[in-house]
Amino acid sequence: MALELSADANLQTGFSLYSDVYQTYLLYPRGRHLRGALGWIAFRLGLDISKQFPEIGWDGVIFRDMLPLCNCKTIFKIDRQGKFIPCPVCGAKYDETVLRTVQTRKLTYKEVSEGKLYRLSIILQDDKWLKDILLILDYANKYGLYLGSRHTSGHGKFIIQDLKTKEIKPFSYSKAMLVSEAISEQGSMKMVIGRRLSEKDKAELIQLKALPIGTVITNVNGFYYGEYGGLGFGEFVPYEGH
Ligand SMILES: [Zn+2]
Repeated sequence: MALELSADANLQTGFSLYSDVYQTYLLYPRGRHLRGALGWIAFRLGLDISKQFPEIGWDGVIFRDMLPLCNCKTIFKIDRQGKFIPCPVCGAKYDETVLRTVQTRKLTYKEVSEGKLYRLSIILQDDKWLKDILLILDYANKYGLYLGSRHTSGHGKFIIQDLKTKEIKPFSYSKAMLVSEAISEQGSMKMVIGRRLSEKDKAELIQLKALPIGTVITNVNGFYYGEYGGLGFGEFVPYEGH
């Protein structure tokens, strides 16, 4: 039986988004960022699971994108254009809830405020790695979860709150919409992902083809669509439109 570990990730430091590069894909940490950060912790702790992380095709554990939450704790969902839609529960708008505008003499930019919550969701195909993942999350909780702290484009520090474990079954829909890019040979979009094998190495850049967020897919069954779902690619939700 598959398991989902879910929690709220509370942003401690805030991060900024310059208006000229203000695009949806920059606004929240992706599953692959989470996987990278937790992989380094696994490596430092010397856990058996650390050997799995450099293999990008490994999907024994799936690290989903860290989508932003509304103040009422509902996930902000995305429309077919990849833009956030108002909260279906309380009607709040993403821009007004999560972002604040910062004005300096020279420029104006958007910034994600500290204290905002993001969905943390990790799916385990079975309980083989449960113990190791819990040890990693425990460490991340004690010392903080840093996403991209080495880069100026990083997302900052998070604290993990209200961690829950539940059993889940693969999702099955006749029609679904991608809420994260799916790596696929049929994809029209170019995608570059980085992989670092050791602390000293520079990231090796891997070029892939992807289907964009908002793509409608049919007859899906599983935890993700396309390839490299372990990196958080290819998450979908049911789609009722035409
Ligand atoms: Zn809301």
